[in-house]
Amino acid sequence: MSVLIGGVQAVTMDPSLGIVDRCDILIGDNGRILDVAESPSPMPEGVTDVLDGDGLIAIPGLIDTHRHAWLELFRGLTADMTVRDYRQLTKSGLAEHVTPEAVRLATLVGDLVALEAGITTVADLAHIGRTRDHLEASVQGHQDSEIRAVLAHTPPNGDSKNWYAASERRHPREIRWLRDILHGDDALVTLAMGARPRHCVAQGVMEDDVAVARELGVRLIYDGIGAATGGGGEVSRWSHEDHRTIAGLVRSGLLGPDMGFVHGNHLTEDELALIADHGAGLSVAPEVEMLSGYGLPVFGRDLVQPGLTLALSTDVATYVAPSLLSAMRTMLMLARGRAASRAYDLQRDEPPLVPALSALGAATTAAARFLGLERRIGSLSPGKDADVTLVDRRGVHLSGVRDPVAAVVLFAHAGDVRHVLVRGRILKRDHAIAHAGLAGLAGELGELGSRILDQHRVRRGDEASPTWNF
Ligand SMILES: [Zn+2]
Repeated sequence: MSVLIGGVQAVTMDPSLGIVDRCDILIGDNGRILDVAESPSPMPEGVTDVLDGDGLIAIPGLIDTHRHAWLELFRGLTADMTVRDYRQLTKSGLAEHVTPEAVRLATLVGDLVALEAGITTVADLAHIGRTRDHLEASVQGHQDSEIRAVLAHTPPNGDSKNWYAASERRHPREIRWLRDILHGDDALVTLAMGARPRHCVAQGVMEDDVAVARELGVRLIYDGIGAATGGGGEVSRWSHEDHRTIAGLVRSGLLGPDMGFVHGNHLTEDELALIADHGAGLSVAPEVEMLSGYGLPVFGRDLVQPGLTLALSTDVATYVAPSLLSAMRTMLMLARGRAASRAYDLQRDEPPLVPALSALGAATTAAARFLGLERRIGSLSPGKDADVTLVDRRGVHLSGVRDPVAAVVLFAHAGDVRHVLVRGRILKRDHAIAHAGLAGLAGELGELGSRILDQHRVRRGDEASPTWNF
């Protein structure tokens, strides 16, 4: 089956193509982009599906570089919690009640909601894999949704004390078993390691974990790398040189381009420079970082290195709807707000402009680099997989917006996403998700989440309470 997207305006994010006002995007049987051609192009043979691009903007499918799919079970639960409360909650034994079936359903629904909003790739730091059944459920959920997913195998949250507090334990050996299941690096679901930062592990453990990841040929993603929690022991522990991950990796000669770091709010200028110089990347979840109390995201900081791969992510649905359309806007506002304040403080006339295109880059090209998928996705380039999001610009709230980048980054919402393709397969068509029964599945997920919270409360012997005071 091959697909033609005809007469579309494309923000390709490919430097050699740029923004094309009217083109045909031709997708081959193998799901790759064959051509981005002047429209109308002669209709090639074998085209079985045509999407009319009139009134639409094509962008590369959006890439969420860090989320925790199982927590879709508890959407909005931590809306009024600090990150410390959130950690208490996830360490409180709640995860014990989460069955493999709950993981599968949360992962599937989370992916389908992501597709709804134009996200075609998610990196899932699945810290719920306390049994092999749970791990298989994560794999199954992603495969069922047909989204592109990087499953980052991460030590389980339910047993945090043993895994995250000066832990002597090496990364769980299940990652080897998972590697046998997710062995194909061309598959839609691939494997990474959700590795523990230096402040969570005893001397030598971080180095051993890196060795395992490299032996297996999987990337390493470190969550919570430089995000103070606003007080308490962790801050002082992290500030000690021995407990800083970047310094530790440099000392061991291990920092490399197969590494990505998440939440760099309080990294120093030197640490950011080291990440950039070694070809590694930084993922920023601007909304959850600000809502939960990590501090201000790095966007717009003076110190941010020009060569640094800065990618966007959504983190957890317990705080906010995981949408990159919204995260791009937040990123841009923050970067411009900071730049303007700095210019004012320095008595400069004009702050430097942070272009809207940079926000789209953080959700596409930079995000692909962060996950090591830049040869496959991130731009609408011939030869790359056809992961494409088509935004309908005909809504009244978009009328008159001439710049397609402004339309996507500053005006569009998830309801404007008309079609979504992953590797050439149309997973959202005319505003409808192809997977059957999303509304029913989402309802089921909500009920399941409530039941788990009830079980947890009964186990703890809590009084019935309308609010969940964990
Ligand atoms: Zn996280």
